[in-house]
Amino acid sequence: ARVASVITRFAPSPTGRLHLGHAFSAVRAHDRARAAGGRFLLRIEDIDGTRSRPEHVAAIEADLRWLGLAWDGPVLFQSTRLDVYAAALERLRGMGLLYPCFCTRAEIAASLSAPHGPEAVYPGTCRALDADAVAARVAHGDRFAWRLDMAKALALAPPLPGREGLGVGRLEAGVAPHYGPTHPSIPSRPGRGGVNLTWTDEIAGTIVADPLSHGDVILARKDAPASYHLAVTIDDAAQGVSHVVRGVDLFGATHVHRLLQALLGFPTPIYHHHALIAGPDGARLAKRNHAPTLESLRLAGEDGPALAASLRAGIGFVAANA
Ligand code: GLU
Repeated sequence: ARVASVITRFAPSPTGRLHLGHAFSAVRAHDRARAAGGRFLLRIEDIDGTRSRPEHVAAIEADLRWLGLAWDGPVLFQSTRLDVYAAALERLRGMGLLYPCFCTRAEIAASLSAPHGPEAVYPGTCRALDADAVAARVAHGDRFAWRLDMAKALALAPPLPGREGLGVGRLEAGVAPHYGPTHPSIPSRPGRGGVNLTWTDEIAGTIVADPLSHGDVILARKDAPASYHLAVTIDDAAQGVSHVVRGVDLFGATHVHRLLQALLGFPTPIYHHHALIAGPDGARLAKRNHAPTLESLRLAGEDGPALAASLRAGIGFVAANA
């Protein structure tokens, strides 16, 4: 019998240098594929033309090599795929699921009662614009994003089954996952909006998709012809990714990706959202709390493969608090 192959990817945005958190994620994705005799891909998520830098791409490749992680095949650059994203966007627009949104960040913030709470979703202001109002704004030169009308999309999304038979099991976790049933991004109200979409996480189990809680997400930005949600869903399908290995900070985004897969007729990969590594303050490592870059560790004389080994073993690292 033909055994479905495992394909994973590491998909950094070249907006800065990689830090330890990225290294952990890359090791996880790499090992998940290698352990199964599968393929590990590298994808550069550079649709943000203003923040992406070629020198970061070169540094990412150097950092992965330093860690001892080799990827298969050519690197996929999202900046080369804008026409593919545009075509998918056009399909969704043809299905009547998109509307132009002219709101600025400041306008949205002002219209939210609880801008930082879990209900801080776009209130749908521009959904109410009629064709004349849209035409007037466009004629005026106002720029707009395309948003997904989430309620309409949920009404249309066919309950497609996920890709089955690739094997689901709990992987040994070097760093214990810190999330459980009380994690805020795991829906407590299954099937909201009547949606009947599920996906499988190798650590969290079967998840009922709750895209409604994300509101009318942006699929094409004012300054880029695709959003993260659209590009990542299209490319995971195009590259045949069978297992999406990434940090639990992106757990919530998967609710949206699952819906887009249903709308665009893509298979649903298996997900593996791993815990995040904490810095000395217990918060997750991030650029904003000055996580040490791999480059700085290399320059300080650290050994890349030894670092990868300790990340695998979870030695010297603890999981971040949510
Ligand atoms: N490009 C995203 C990031 O750098 C990750 C995308 C993903 O793994 O889905 O955070």
